[in-house]
Amino acid sequence: MSNLPPYLFAEIDRKRALKESEGVDVISLGIGDPDLPTPQRIIGAMAEAIANPKNHQYPAYAGSKPYRAACAEWMKRRFGVGLDPDTEVLALIGSKEGIAHLFPAFIDVGDYTLVPGVGYPVYTTGGILIGGETHYMPMNEDNGWLADFESTPAEVLAKAKMMFLSYPNNPAAVAAPVEYFDAAIAFAQKHDLLLVHDNAYSEIGFDGHLPTSILERPGARDVAIELFSCSKAYNMTGWRVAFACGNAEAIKALGTVKSNVDSGVFTAIQDAAIEALLGPQDDVAAMREVYQRRRDMVLDALDTIGLSARRSQGTIYVWARIPGGYTSAEYATLVLDKTGVIVPPGSAYGPDGEGYIRISLATPDHRLAEALERMATTL
Ligand SMILES: *Cc1c(COP(=O)(O)O)cnc(C)c1O
Repeated sequence: MSNLPPYLFAEIDRKRALKESEGVDVISLGIGDPDLPTPQRIIGAMAEAIANPKNHQYPAYAGSKPYRAACAEWMKRRFGVGLDPDTEVLALIGSKEGIAHLFPAFIDVGDYTLVPGVGYPVYTTGGILIGGETHYMPMNEDNGWLADFESTPAEVLAKAKMMFLSYPNNPAAVAAPVEYFDAAIAFAQKHDLLLVHDNAYSEIGFDGHLPTSILERPGARDVAIELFSCSKAYNMTGWRVAFACGNAEAIKALGTVKSNVDSGVFTAIQDAAIEALLGPQDDVAAMREVYQRRRDMVLDALDTIGLSARRSQGTIYVWARIPGGYTSAEYATLVLDKTGVIVPPGSAYGPDGEGYIRISLATPDHRLAEALERMATTL
């Protein structure tokens, strides 16, 4: 427990409570959770599924046959990737669960995991909880936020078992070119690593570019699994449903850990997720437009505020560079003090996040506009 990193939001949470007790209308731009509701077609499917008594019993560990078939069909439709639903697809109780359970499946005490310099915290804490080691792969403006695995020292590689990548990237909001995926696959082959691609934002690409799957690339299936989730794609974060797919041996190992820890996803939720994946996808296109419009609102305001950012290529974030003279935690505290707006410090996402803040687009338009207005006039 004591090896887990300190909670970087603690100071901000304390300040927030103080501000609110003073009557300040605090606006959070810190939330990585869609503000829009789950599409009605999915809620309808759930209402029907929950009335079916068969769904009230224990679920199948690996996911129901129809759900795994739907995941495979979605991968085919969306990316042209063919998968065997029996051996290459596994239902997850959210991708967070899958990430955490990969550690007991693949990491022994002292083994290394290669983790992006900024990223989802469980890539690191999952290792800490079982005595694994983390090597951070450098990510910065200069390498386009494409984690630099090639610079990993030989002594780390000798004990490395697993490497995480995630594009479009939370928090850096960049997509990866296919050449980068190809290089990562070759690297994983050379060093006998399991390559885990966390594709949580697979449906959220901007300016007409839809994210790709690493499984589209040659050789990927020899070394890689990919995680997909209904959470951000279908505004279903609270439902807890996702899937892992790809390398059959890795899928089997993850499934073995899970069958000893949990008992699968509520089958009615899997039925609703089938509708999410295979029903009409117009709501996904509409969601993408909402986030893109909000991204543009933020980008237009940055100059006046004194921030700068690349144009987000996907995800629900803008990753903005802060002015000099502050750490990102100091800057976040200053913003909260002066404007009542919460912007998480980049350092909360890993060692390469210093000097940045993450602005969430999962904020209703009028609240986002108000927050930007306050920042523009006060900072
Ligand atoms: C939100 C998020 C997750 C967790 O998704 P769930 O499927 O809801 O567990 C995983 N990875 C990244 C990068 C995320 O942003």
